[in-house]
Amino acid sequence: MKEYPTFVSHLECSYTGKVYPADQLHGLSEAGKPLLVKYDLDALGKAISKDDLKSRLPEFWRYREFLPVRKSANIVRLGEVMTPILPAPKLQSRYGCGEILIKDEGRLPTGSFKARGIALAVAMAKELGITTMAMPTNGNAGAALAAYCSAADIETYVFCPEDTPQVNIEEIAFQGAKTFLVNGYITDCGRIVGEGKQAMGWFDASTLKEPYRIEGKKTMGLELAEQLDWEVPDVILYPTGGGTGLIGMWKAFNELEAIGWIGSKRPRMVAVQAEGCAPIVKAFDEGTRHAEPWVNASTIASGIRVPAAVGDFLILDAVRESDGFAVAVSDEAIIAAHEECAKTEGILLCPEGAATLAALIQELASGRIKSDEQVMLFNCATGLKYPMQSEHHNIDLGKPIDYDFIRNC
Ligand SMILES: *Cc1c(COP(=O)(O)O)cnc(C)c1O
Repeated sequence: MKEYPTFVSHLECSYTGKVYPADQLHGLSEAGKPLLVKYDLDALGKAISKDDLKSRLPEFWRYREFLPVRKSANIVRLGEVMTPILPAPKLQSRYGCGEILIKDEGRLPTGSFKARGIALAVAMAKELGITTMAMPTNGNAGAALAAYCSAADIETYVFCPEDTPQVNIEEIAFQGAKTFLVNGYITDCGRIVGEGKQAMGWFDASTLKEPYRIEGKKTMGLELAEQLDWEVPDVILYPTGGGTGLIGMWKAFNELEAIGWIGSKRPRMVAVQAEGCAPIVKAFDEGTRHAEPWVNASTIASGIRVPAAVGDFLILDAVRESDGFAVAVSDEAIIAAHEECAKTEGILLCPEGAATLAALIQELASGRIKSDEQVMLFNCATGLKYPMQSEHHNIDLGKPIDYDFIRNC
């Protein structure tokens, strides 16, 4: 595999700015906050041009210079495709929106955008000599971890809340992770990993507790900008759990501006949560920089059922700096948007993706999103992983076929 130059200069505590050396094993900073990877952006900008990208494969490894992996041999490839941006013209005219675009992340390996972050985390784990990883998950992250770690010969322990979607539990276990169901929340699973890691020799792959998943999620921002010919949409609606994707895209836009590939325009970043678990929305509304843990979290959108996010202030900073907002939608609105998108546009969203459509509909009505804005929704996983309420009818071959019945169904 071809080698690329890398431009990582150091890591930095996202809270205190304290500098940490690259090429060493790191979890959270001493302040207990996420570490961010920093690059020599001057050198990066000189080393690669927009045109260079054109001859590369349509996969997110095309952004190698923006990523921390030094040796190509450490990369496990499962087909990290660039995901399509789908138009939604019928919803657009129905709700009076400038333009609705849906970034369909369900096309990635293991059927969700968790593959972006995990592909990077696992490549870096290989690079740094890690042999065992552990993770709390609501489902998709564990599935991606199981797949990439099996491919990379890294042993994996995955802890899920017991009400994690059944298909997620099965894919995690089937793809080789030791899989445990916990009668609590993802934060309880995180505690099991945190308290056990020393004795068990685990590397903690929790969201934002290692520095590299965010670099993988950053490729969403690089990719969407390239796909829009180095423009950004007016508004991005992002279903926010741990917030890695929102923080990662924000980082991508800043890096792209630093090397002169995009201007100073930013999308208004909208963090979408469910009414039954909306810690970021509460903090946004109350004007605080940190979010209080949400008590009794409950929503059908399991990917955003995250009662406490270690990167809360990074989400809130990005939302505020971008002039965006945080908003909660009800499970009823999620269910309605899910079905509406499937039946009008033929696009099968995941419930979290449906939450972004529900938020768009709600906020076009409230006026917080304007009718001339170009809006990008994030569908983070394939809808095929989730239950669908559907109506169907039975035909008994032991009787004459009743075409009138069929016509009138
Ligand atoms: C993980 C996940 C989310 C939340 O993503 P974060 O970047 O952690 O906020 C949303 N939707 C789905 C389907 C997910 O799996």
